[in-house]
Amino acid sequence: METNSILSQIKASFPRGKDVVLVAVSKFQPADVIRRVYDEGQRIFAESRVQELQWKAEELPDDICWHFIGHLQTNKVAKLLGIRGLELIQSVDSFKLLECIDREAAKSGKVVKVLLEVHVAREDTKFGFAPSELIEWINGEQHLRLTAVEVCGVMGMASNTDDEERVKADFKAIAEVFDMLKQSVPSWKRFNILSMGMSGDYRLAIEEGANMVRIGSSIFGERHP
Ligand SMILES: *Cc1c(COP(=O)(O)O)cnc(C)c1O
Repeated sequence: METNSILSQIKASFPRGKDVVLVAVSKFQPADVIRRVYDEGQRIFAESRVQELQWKAEELPDDICWHFIGHLQTNKVAKLLGIRGLELIQSVDSFKLLECIDREAAKSGKVVKVLLEVHVAREDTKFGFAPSELIEWINGEQHLRLTAVEVCGVMGMASNTDDEERVKADFKAIAEVFDMLKQSVPSWKRFNILSMGMSGDYRLAIEEGANMVRIGSSIFGERHP
């Protein structure tokens, strides 16, 4: 293992004693660049577009676990579920999408793991559920009708700001939603992923309880979409 690799530097910067899964966000990166990070030992990569994930999954080694983190349209769900190595859809941001994934997964006899994307940040350009929406949904018991999606946790983003207190408060709010859901739905047996934190704020996220971080530019450098 190369002790100086960017991956080990990032892992060494995680707050001590925390068990955190590092997801490498490879969107817009060419296959050869992703391959180099793979060769350093990374096996979990995330993409934000179905088409792009599709060709990368075909081109790159088949022991990669792919996560989807972009806004997903229902008409692309079937295609996404057919991609080899898809492990987790982190960005489920509406009940319509959740139900669509459930239907498509059932059709193909699969169980698909998902995270619910929670929206707490100030920006109104970001997708996701308001905490109150999820509480209402849980109380309505519609979630008990899902048969082919396995809800494994929550994904969220903090406001895009230099104000550390604001970012911390956002992560706290996401973690609260995670705790609330975990307590409210004991039938979600594998509900244990709290995915929050990106290149600029992952240390704060981990301090607030994240056990999965999604890091792009710190690994790959700036993106040129
Ligand atoms: C692009 C992206 C990331 C990675 O962002 P960086 O700042 O490059 O680390 C993480 N999560 C989501 C949902 C993204 O779209």
